[in-house]
Amino acid sequence: MGKKQRLQSPSGMHDILPEDQKYFDKLYNVAENLATFYGFEKIETPIMEFTELYEKGTGLGTDIVEKQMFSLRTKGGDHLTLRPEFTPGIIRSFIQHGMMSLPQPVKLFSIGSVFRYESPQAGRFRQFRQIDFEVFGERSPAIDAQVIQAFYNLLSELKFKNLVIEVNSIGANCCRPYFKKVLTSHLRSHLNSLCLDCKRRARENPLRFLDCKEEKCQPIKAQAPQIIDHLCEECHNHFKETLEFLDELGLPYRLNPYLVRGLDYYTKTVFEIFADVVVQDKVLPLALVGGGRFDNLGKIVGGKDIPACGAAAGVERIVSGMKENKLRIVSESKKEVFLAQVGDLAKKKSLKLFEEFRQAKVPVAESLSKDSLKVQLARADRLNVRYALILGQKEALDKTVILRDMKNGTQDTIKIEKAVNEIKKRLKRKR
Ligand code: AMP
Repeated sequence: MGKKQRLQSPSGMHDILPEDQKYFDKLYNVAENLATFYGFEKIETPIMEFTELYEKGTGLGTDIVEKQMFSLRTKGGDHLTLRPEFTPGIIRSFIQHGMMSLPQPVKLFSIGSVFRYESPQAGRFRQFRQIDFEVFGERSPAIDAQVIQAFYNLLSELKFKNLVIEVNSIGANCCRPYFKKVLTSHLRSHLNSLCLDCKRRARENPLRFLDCKEEKCQPIKAQAPQIIDHLCEECHNHFKETLEFLDELGLPYRLNPYLVRGLDYYTKTVFEIFADVVVQDKVLPLALVGGGRFDNLGKIVGGKDIPACGAAAGVERIVSGMKENKLRIVSESKKEVFLAQVGDLAKKKSLKLFEEFRQAKVPVAESLSKDSLKVQLARADRLNVRYALILGQKEALDKTVILRDMKNGTQDTIKIEKAVNEIKKRLKRKR
């Protein structure tokens, strides 16, 4: 490995620098408040699971499992994989900890990194973060609508405009196998005109043909049978009711018969929420949220019948959008006061004064390592503080301090022991 490589983060994995943290904090904060409102409780599962969990859960035929997993073998011989998505780990935990015996539904949410070995490009990383909401133990389409609503609200609160919710139903074991046959026979009759991937999909995973983006496949797609015309009565009614709930909530959705979401475990409702986001100077319609119902996953993973529905939002993509939306974020750590000092005695006294402010929970900035008053006041200016406290040699001897109002430039000399209370009083008045 060359020197240059060692000084770079791995491909598709990024540092989140201090100046960006406020966007992540804000997003997590809005997500946690919404989670609390909708009754979701926080859960944290290990960042790795047994590889088999994803092979069974996410599914062997999926892109994630076939091409995108970061897997390793431990010294003890276990096959582990960095989570490429939250859902299998959370349902594993749900079963392992007997949450079926809790009053249902159980609503869980989680926030953290996921890992997929993708080709890195704009808006597509190998390590990215997701906000994940899951509801277990409830078959009602009201839950499908509520999950969509919660994520729609998350994006609206962060000032995303022109959001598009795309919805579809992909049926379940009762009707999907038949639809797959109908679709496969359509694909077979056009096999020579299909792209290379879809030729393979026609054999292995025909539903994935529906979201193929290749030019070649588009005319065949336009004539393809649509799954909503082949839903059984139960799946049809579930979809109809989900849409009625969305209508009732006034959510702007669009039916997309080609949305299949590429994972084996989805049943009935699938959805995505899109917005135009500027990523690396390009405006892209990006999926910010994706999810759906997965009534079979409990059976696949642990032999338990657990109706469920959930979704995940892509944190980095949302943060790109938040920056674009010019979201004003008031930093929690905004300092209102700056403590400047000149001379050895003043430096010693200001150390103590700084501690008194900490105990009084008043955020104060300082530059104790700097000696020049000019440099210190320039920093106070940059931080846009309202007040500066200036402690010089004379003040230190007199046990006083100069309090300067940075807005109007007025100055008062006050007793040092009164400084904390005086600042508190003035800050309160200002609010
Ligand atoms: P998925 O689990 O693939 O449905 O993804 C849910 C959301 O995560 C998507 O809507 C995106 O916002 C985000 N996402 C998925 N893959 C990536 C990636 N490779 N890089 C960044 N964000 C992603």
